[in-house]
Amino acid sequence: MDPFDDLVTANASYASEFALGELPAPPRRNLAVVTCMDCRIDPLAVLGLEPGEAHVLRNAGARVTDDVLRSLVKSVNQLGVTRVAVVHHTDCGAAKIKLDDLRATVQAATGHDPADVDFNLIADQDEALAADVEALRTYPYLPDGTEVAGFLYDVTTGVAESRHRATIG
Ligand SMILES: [Zn+2]
Repeated sequence: MDPFDDLVTANASYASEFALGELPAPPRRNLAVVTCMDCRIDPLAVLGLEPGEAHVLRNAGARVTDDVLRSLVKSVNQLGVTRVAVVHHTDCGAAKIKLDDLRATVQAATGHDPADVDFNLIADQDEALAADVEALRTYPYLPDGTEVAGFLYDVTTGVAESRHRATIG
């Protein structure tokens, strides 16, 4: 039994009824969403979106990292995105994990200390969200007029609360 067999089986079923083959690549709602990899978050459902409507970029903590910025340069300048929603969430691992514990766990499991990895852990959730919105607002490769919003999603209620707003330029 291959550990990916369940995915292959599910995809065969999905593809047999596939109806999205005509979707254009530019997101129809001119939107990019940056959110956490946490499996409790269904970004499309949370924000009332469907396939074809938004770029969704995910990482641990929904942090605006260099790689997120690199992707957004393309979203905004080439693919018609005019608004970026950063969606942090309650009970986030990036805010609960202690760096020393994480490094010790990795060291024990692999024999290597990830001292050179910036995990972008979160000390204060609202400050981190504000900092990520600010990182977008001040990034030089996103054009004036691009709208940025910071939301905090509550994993126990489903509510995404708007916390921070900025307009580039
Ligand atoms: Zn998280």
